[in-house]
Amino acid sequence: MHRRKRYEGYQEWFHGSASGMCMRKHYFQHIAGVTPKPVGDDTLRLFRMGDLVHEDMQNAIRDYAENNGTSIFIEREIRIPEVNVRGFLDVIIVQDKTLYDIKTCNAWKWKQLFGRAPDPNPAENYFLQLGTYGWWYEIESGERLDKLALLYYKKDNSDMREKIISTSYIDGAKKYWRDVREKFKKGNPPIELGVAPVYSWECNPKYCNFWEVCGGGLKAKGDEL
Ligand code: SF4
Repeated sequence: MHRRKRYEGYQEWFHGSASGMCMRKHYFQHIAGVTPKPVGDDTLRLFRMGDLVHEDMQNAIRDYAENNGTSIFIEREIRIPEVNVRGFLDVIIVQDKTLYDIKTCNAWKWKQLFGRAPDPNPAENYFLQLGTYGWWYEIESGERLDKLALLYYKKDNSDMREKIISTSYIDGAKKYWRDVREKFKKGNPPIELGVAPVYSWECNPKYCNFWEVCGGGLKAKGDEL
């Protein structure tokens, strides 16, 4: 599978796509070498759907760039050795200094993002993911991006819209990953909401592939989920 092959042989690198998530997950997977629980068929189908949308949009952007002499990065591998992070960004339009990450979502999520009463406390892990890619661009080019945006595709009716986020998430990503580096000097950080896990929703057997080796996360600790 394409997704798996991208990470084969690089097990010790943290994943840029997991920016802003539970630090114990990084530790189990990339320091302790624990094999994550296999992903279920339902999740694989969602990944496949996401891959198809990515491919299609990236092809369209590539065609546009070729026809207009625009300089772009597409599906570009990034590495930040200082914090041991590796990943793949979706799209940078160089002349616009703009980074896009493509996401698919359902109508419920769309409403939370773009409805009349948007979620006042959105999960910031996607924002830090973009911040991580923006940090790489800064190292690579010596320039700071002007715009970071999530490009959403609504699966129910193929509607598309971008959500612009603050470029301050580049600094947020630096802080998050440097924090990971510092904490890991002392070993696997203890279970503590806000760090490990970062969000209570990620700490359950459905969203965490290390639930068993972790001993049941917040629930086992007696914290409310
Ligand atoms: S069970 Fe919870 S605390 Fe443990 S690795 Fe998973 S998300 Fe993190």
